[in-house]
Amino acid sequence: MVAEAEALFDAVLDATADAVMVTDRAGNIKQINPAFQKLTGFSLPMLVGKDARELFRDLNDPEFCDEVWSEEPQTRHYESVRSKHADGRAQVHGMSMTPIRDTAGNASQFVAVILSDSFQSDAETGEIHRAGHDALTGLPDRGLLADRVGQNILNAKRANKSIALLVMGLDRFTVINDALGYTAGDQLLKEVAERLSKVIRMSDTAARLDGDKFAVMTPISAIDDSVIVAEKVLNAMKKGFSLKGEEVFVTFSIGISIYPTDGEDFDDLLKDGLSAMQFAKTTGGDQYRFFASEMNAKARNRLDLEKRMRNALVNEEFVLYYQPKVDASTGRVKGAEALIRWRDPVHGLISPAEFIPVAEETGLIVDIGTWCLRDACFQTKRWQDAGYDPIRMSVNVSAHQFRAKNLLDVVKSALADAKLEPKWLELEITESMLMNDVEAAIARMQAVRDLGCGLSIDDFGTGYSSLSYLSRFPITTLKIDRAFVKDVQENQNTKEIARAIIGLSRGLNLEVVAEGAELLEHVEFLKENGCDVIQGFYFSKPLEASEFEKKLSRRAAA
Ligand code: C2E
Ligand code: MG
Ligand code: MG
Repeated sequence: MVAEAEALFDAVLDATADAVMVTDRAGNIKQINPAFQKLTGFSLPMLVGKDARELFRDLNDPEFCDEVWSEEPQTRHYESVRSKHADGRAQVHGMSMTPIRDTAGNASQFVAVILSDSFQSDAETGEIHRAGHDALTGLPDRGLLADRVGQNILNAKRANKSIALLVMGLDRFTVINDALGYTAGDQLLKEVAERLSKVIRMSDTAARLDGDKFAVMTPISAIDDSVIVAEKVLNAMKKGFSLKGEEVFVTFSIGISIYPTDGEDFDDLLKDGLSAMQFAKTTGGDQYRFFASEMNAKARNRLDLEKRMRNALVNEEFVLYYQPKVDASTGRVKGAEALIRWRDPVHGLISPAEFIPVAEETGLIVDIGTWCLRDACFQTKRWQDAGYDPIRMSVNVSAHQFRAKNLLDVVKSALADAKLEPKWLELEITESMLMNDVEAAIARMQAVRDLGCGLSIDDFGTGYSSLSYLSRFPITTLKIDRAFVKDVQENQNTKEIARAIIGLSRGLNLEVVAEGAELLEHVEFLKENGCDVIQGFYFSKPLEASEFEKKLSRRAAA
């Protein structure tokens, strides 16, 4: 019945000429129909998982987005909504919004419908915006880019954020123009523009400055964000362009300037970006350079780290350390948390805080995480086989890994290959990984539990801590973040929070583990309040396997 309803729904979506978009409760896009793609220029891969508000923000009243994705149960109709077209144009149309309610009566999804004949004609709207576009590529031109940068600077000022301007010139464009002719040259510029539009985010603007020069403006929260965009642009050009039956290769030289460090307005940012681009060209092309030279060093360090990390996996430079989880009343080791370390031959032992974030960004975390899971499972089984009392092993799982399609397969094969019973493995995830698409996260969590593994929320109390969701999460354990343990002596509020978390866990029938207990006072406070499993320097730092083994107790003879 459900499958039938879905098939019917899909058939209607495919057939209708009106644009339909389905989002989750938070406004993240789950589905669009072919008409939506046709009318807005965005394809599903460009939109899926993104915040739908990005399509409307800055073009409508500030309250518009809040109101549209509100819990109000009725269908609502809006006249003259302004939204973004994939080519950067704003378009005006009507829209209706229907919240779909779950069995509990809460809005769990939203369906937006834009009637195809509600679009206001180009004469009224499109023309004004078209005026700011480059005729050949359809991208915003320099004037419109200047406007957008100005607007974004205002926003950034308010929010204390930064903006990166990437100024980009094609390397050897004149050679291609001379060899293949102007028509082929124009064709190339058009295709370059298309690839550019595909790699940028909805909040970015790609523009054509003049000739073979393009630019991308992107709001950033850290310098690394601009590096990611630059690398995406360079990668997007790697595939050849087919011109007049020939395969032609072009590369970009990219200069990056940052608001506010390099300039306070568009003109300054452009000037700096151009000079950085020139530097990128003269030093070989097919690369990016920052205007501020110390940024180049930072970007190089990051690239260097990335390269070394790739090799580290092959060269077996990663090791797992184990930190005991102690039953405070008996002093016995009940479990362990596996914590990764990187033994770099040049730089020595590197902490995960330094390389896990970069591994996340580059996707390397998936391979590293798989290695961790397998190594931890094998070690746990080795200790069991050696006759120690079995312990439960906790392994940290990163956001990327948790969402990866192969998570379940990786866990299953790690357990099977190590011949470890699933009940001895527990995965640690954090709250922030769950709040984006709660329903999907719950399904994933349930699938992990169905394998028979434990599931723990790490660093509890530092994230969103949505208590209403907590009761719906199929978890086995809560880990109180060490921030709450550290201050229990001095800070009455912290003490109350720690107590509340322990009480909450008990109420929900969850195991509660405290991390970061360094002092006897911490341990005593935790015990008094009913938290029995404690992890922290008071008992032990994370240890190498051979050292950790000394803390394990022998299984009592049968
Ligand atoms: P986490 O999962 O919350 O791990 C606990 C961290 O607290 C560990 O830091 C541990 O050494 C530290 N710690 C334990 N007891 C105490 C204490 O009494 N006092 C203080 N000040 N610190 C204590 P570590 O090993 O540096 O790991 C940092 C974070 O890196 C971990 O936080 C985890 O989020 C991540 N991480 C570590 N190993 C892995 C891994 O294999 N995969 C993934 N995805 N992340 C990992
Ligand atoms: Mg952890
Ligand atoms: Mg933690």
